Amino acid sequence: MKTVLKDYFLPSDYVNRFTDITSDYLKSHDKTAVMIDLDNTLVAFDDPDINDEVIEWIETLQEDGIQVLILSNGRKNRVERFCKDSDLKYIHTARKPAMRGFHKGITELGVKKKAVVMIGDQVMTDVLGANRTGIDSILVLPVKEKDAFVTKFNRRMERRIMKWIADEDLLNWRNY
Ligand SMILES: [Mg+2]
Repeated sequence: MKTVLKDYFLPSDYVNRFTDITSDYLKSHDKTAVMIDLDNTLVAFDDPDINDEVIEWIETLQEDGIQVLILSNGRKNRVERFCKDSDLKYIHTARKPAMRGFHKGITELGVKKKAVVMIGDQVMTDVLGANRTGIDSILVLPVKEKDAFVTKFNRRMERRIMKWIADEDLLNWRNY
């Protein structure tokens, strides 16, 4: 059971917010590209627009040579609207944890798997998909709780996994 958890549901690291992730931190793990979830990772799930804090964070990463791509399960309209005023690469309707969107993102970024990290708030989509694809991942706390049964179930799962990681001191960068 532990091996299954470790192989599929364990992120490489976890932080409170996306702003905790800096270029230096990414470079220290040999990452030159990030794929980022949108809903509840960068903004609340019901917030349609990008904001100055997100723009500034992304621009800083890009200036430091880190490539950025939004990898979202959100619909076309939602993701397009969010990205329209920046020159952000994006993939909508990604169907994470399916691997296809992850592979598509890696191809668009033009990097090797080991150079990219997935950043997201959900173990069941972002982390599981990253592990299945064979890339590192960073779990962040959700911006705003969604009042839906499935999400509630997922959150319970995430808290258990985070506690388990902390108890067992299991964080690890795999650099596949
Ligand atoms: Mg999300």
